[in-house]
Amino acid sequence: MHIILLGAPGAGKGTLAKMIAGKFGVPHLSTGDILRDNVNKKTYVGNQAKEYMDNGKLVPDDIMIQMVKGRVLEEDCKTGFILDGFPRTIRQAEALKLIFDELDITIDAIFNLEASQETIIERLSGRRTCKNCGAIYHIKNIPSEVEGKCDKCGNMLYQRDDDKKDVVKKRLMVYKTQTKKLISYYEKQDSFCEIDANKKVDEMFVEACKDLGKACKSG
Ligand code: AMP
Repeated sequence: MHIILLGAPGAGKGTLAKMIAGKFGVPHLSTGDILRDNVNKKTYVGNQAKEYMDNGKLVPDDIMIQMVKGRVLEEDCKTGFILDGFPRTIRQAEALKLIFDELDITIDAIFNLEASQETIIERLSGRRTCKNCGAIYHIKNIPSEVEGKCDKCGNMLYQRDDDKKDVVKKRLMVYKTQTKKLISYYEKQDSFCEIDANKKVDEMFVEACKDLGKACKSG
């Protein structure tokens, strides 16, 4: 199963991706998570990416394309994967097409998560992430059992630096000017599905599963 998730920061891609990955047993490839891991470990890629990420900018295409190319060739991606946060530019989408053609991969679904500005701001400002396992919470909508602690691994939850107000504004601007174009790039494909991301994540998940059911049956 191969899925691409599109949508603005805060639309719920990460949470939905984790639910789909859990149900269908395929890895969740979040380019944001992979980059944060590289930044924490101070790798060559992490050091190159840090300044862009801190400023809400996109990390250059060449770095991202190499990173994704390497990741999808790993053993656990043999049966499929969910891409969350990639592609984010037309150049990345074109490179992804080449990778898919080369590996003879068909896309099962391209979900575009459409959310209002209010939903996005509310989701991002309340989002808390586990530093250790990457689990995602929301102070109101998906609270952890013990405040500030991850239900899954017990580690501390934190607010991402780039979820703070000033950087959020920049990220949303980058989405509007660079990433939103991907909707017209993909929307004519049969596997393209709109998801109303103003709904609760559980409802989005049901919608996504229904779409996948349809895609699976007709495919
Ligand atoms: P995310 O966790 O998906 O919101 O990504 C966090 C940050 O990582 C973004 O604001 C970008 O700086 C960087 N990033 C993640 N994915 C990409 C991508 N496909 N292209 C460029 N930069 C990316």
